[in-house]
Amino acid sequence: MADFNGLEHIVREDESLAPYGWLRTGGVAKYFAEPTTEEELAALVGLCRNQNVPIKLLGGGSNLLIASEQVEAMVIHLSAAAFTDISVEGNQISAKGGAKLVQLLSTAAREGLSGLESLAGIPGTVAGALKTNAGTHNDDIGQWTKSVKVLTRDGEIAVREGAELRFSYRESSLNELVILEGTFELRAMDSIEVTKRTQTQWILTKGQQPRGVAGTICMFRDHGGVTAESLIESAGLKGAATGAASLNEFCPNFLVLNEGGSVENAVALLNHVQAEVAASTGIELVRQVEVW
Ligand SMILES: Cc1cc2nc3c(=O)[nH]c(=O)nc-3n(C[C@H](O)[C@H](O)[C@H](O)COP(=O)(O)OP(=O)(O)OC[C@H]3O[C@@H](n4cnc5c(N)ncnc54)[C@H](O)[C@@H]3O)c2cc1C
Repeated sequence: MADFNGLEHIVREDESLAPYGWLRTGGVAKYFAEPTTEEELAALVGLCRNQNVPIKLLGGGSNLLIASEQVEAMVIHLSAAAFTDISVEGNQISAKGGAKLVQLLSTAAREGLSGLESLAGIPGTVAGALKTNAGTHNDDIGQWTKSVKVLTRDGEIAVREGAELRFSYRESSLNELVILEGTFELRAMDSIEVTKRTQTQWILTKGQQPRGVAGTICMFRDHGGVTAESLIESAGLKGAATGAASLNEFCPNFLVLNEGGSVENAVALLNHVQAEVAASTGIELVRQVEVW
């Protein structure tokens, strides 16, 4: 076992990751930690580096499928208050990586700052959204991001901005060890108007997502101008299922894991859909969900 001398109070072994992922199933983390300060985080990263323990960051788990029985890594979860704070200065909001995206949006609405409304209804954290450049067909978080504070793989704190910060469809240049904080430059607008826009978008987005199911993931990225959903439909896969994993009836790009379903069911269905779409359309769908 690796030595986490001095940090035993925040490190746990063999932590089940099922409660942290949106499919509510999956393997265990060999090591799991919830640091309470940036100093603890830096010390933890240093100990992992010295002992060659790989590190993985867990946000809201809404873009993860935990397929391994044991994730051979230190899984770090930034849930403590030190990593969830949100502050406002003029037309800029700074949100720590572990803050929920919904909290960032409600702060923006309350403060009368417009821009991020189109993200309403997307689950997860600020860091997860920055890493995956979360968004809709028209907008994404990257467009509003001024700078991002990170902890690099060398254990240095750095701020990425300008040319060092790039966003494209569901991707960012933020291949850093830890995303600590994002700063967003927004436009001043009447608070009631921002709230209305956020609520309208929330209703629209939620209407496009599976309702009333706990275990769901969004499977694939759109391909060029064609939605993954329409490619899945044109491959005749509407209603496809593998064991207890099935495609949502109304949103076929969402995989739903029903009662008693396993990770194996989910992975099998993901692979089946990818193969069938390739066979019928010639297009190799790229996974949106990250498999651990
Ligand atoms: C019902 C549903 C609807 C969705 N709708 C949309 C949508 O409309 N648009 C969209 O873009 N996405 C959508 N998604 C996908 C997902 O919600 C987004 O990708 C979200 O931004 C992921 O955030 P998270 O905090 O859950 O990240 P996680 O799933 O926990 O992690 C995602 C990635 O970010 C990394 N990460 C997390 N925290 C940190 C950190 N602090 N530092 C460094 N790396 C970190 C993880 O290691 C992983 O690589 C949807 C998912 C679901 C389940």
